[in-house]
Amino acid sequence: MPHCDAKKQGCGGCPLLMTPYPEQLAQKQQRINRLMAPFGKPRPILGMEDPWHYRNKAIATFTRRGGQLAAGIYQEGTHRVVPARECLLVSRQLNQALEAAVWAAEKCGYQPYQEDRGRGLVRHIQARHAFATGQVLVSLVTAGPFLPGGRKFARLLRQKAPFVESVVQNINPGHTSAVLGRQEKLLYGSGRIRDELCGKSFLLSSRSFYQINPAQTRQLYELARQAADCKEGETVIDAYCGAGTIGLIAGQGAGKLLGVELNRDAVADAIRNARYNKAQNARFYCADASDWMAEMAARGEKADLVFMDPPRQGSSPKFLNSLLALAPERVVYISCGPESLARDLGILTRGGYRVREIWPVDMFPHTEHIETVVLLSRETNPLTVEVRMEVETGEVKEHPTYKRIQEYVQEKYGFKVHTAYIAEVKRMVGLDMHKAPNAVEQRKHEYHPCPPEKVEAIKDALRHFGLIAE
Ligand code: SAH
Repeated sequence: MPHCDAKKQGCGGCPLLMTPYPEQLAQKQQRINRLMAPFGKPRPILGMEDPWHYRNKAIATFTRRGGQLAAGIYQEGTHRVVPARECLLVSRQLNQALEAAVWAAEKCGYQPYQEDRGRGLVRHIQARHAFATGQVLVSLVTAGPFLPGGRKFARLLRQKAPFVESVVQNINPGHTSAVLGRQEKLLYGSGRIRDELCGKSFLLSSRSFYQINPAQTRQLYELARQAADCKEGETVIDAYCGAGTIGLIAGQGAGKLLGVELNRDAVADAIRNARYNKAQNARFYCADASDWMAEMAARGEKADLVFMDPPRQGSSPKFLNSLLALAPERVVYISCGPESLARDLGILTRGGYRVREIWPVDMFPHTEHIETVVLLSRETNPLTVEVRMEVETGEVKEHPTYKRIQEYVQEKYGFKVHTAYIAEVKRMVGLDMHKAPNAVEQRKHEYHPCPPEKVEAIKDALRHFGLIAE
């Protein structure tokens, strides 16, 4: 079994490291069989052939050890940094990139940030590795915006790790356990790397959401694609869509692909990914998935197929009841929390769906997590199923992206822009407008076209949010 020096000191990253891999798989199989017993018999769990160095993202926190700059991992449940030079979960290139980054930071004389005193400069390093192209993106997270010798840092780092394609400085001044802040400065390259997955290309920035085990993600998405069996012309929803990967891969051929996601950076990535992969049928919405589904249901819309991939705590009764009202023929539930999955399947099966397949996938070897793909299909005529809807009444809320655009323009240019102007500019630049829930078919007032300075400001905002190219 490979050796891990952090294990002795207990970084806590791999609680099952001492359990042989076949035994880990057997334990996970038992757990999923037990939880899924009311719904059907799961298929054998899909394990990894080589369950080491599978992660495409690594994060290390700066500290000082023996007078020298070092970086390591927080010990589980604490803010004590345990040095981990050769993590067994992250790819070898990432270990190399982290080591090179620490060396370059030491050469540049950077001081580690001390959380308790609020002093020092460098907080963390994050490195992402696009396995398919070999490109690596390194983000140096600093407490303040000023980074003396930032370009030198990038140059030194690339001397030791020439495969690093891009280097960014991420500024995180907050007293927070979140690793990344919102603001970034480019130190080298484009700030993005490109990966390929199931025949599609995806651009990743430091803040993009992306599955962390590429080999198993391929298996997971192939299963989702097979389960979905998406047919031409169908309306497909990708709920909790992140950067849009599942819908774009497994919903290929759909007539209409509608993605919904709460994180606006992920939505911007999804829009960019759809354009990059020439998926003209795709629309992505930044909203709470439960509210969005309830609004769809309240408008009496229909869908043929719904992918749902909620966070570990699962979905909500509001989402599930709206799903029952939308009555898609098939639902593909992708879950990283088997307990919440069992709870949600209970609601869907009571609402007239039947579980057809359960495929567990080992996305996170040496940890206790289990990923599962479940295919459900509608058993009863939706009209005969009693559905308890909890749709809020009152005015439908405005699409949050508009609000963000208005805030951005107000902050940068100091003037307000009407949503009608935003809609006009979106149309002007070829961003197809979805049927907004609050769209007015007939104008109440005479309409004046958007003034040129506002057109420019809105275009700038659209560029900022990644809705149009730079
Ligand atoms: N399907 C994507 C991401 C799955 S992770 C993929 O395979 O890569 C779960 C996603 O749900 C995250 O991107 C998270 O931001 C999003 N999310 C969490 N709560 C949400 C909510 N209430 N509404 C919409 N999206 C939500």
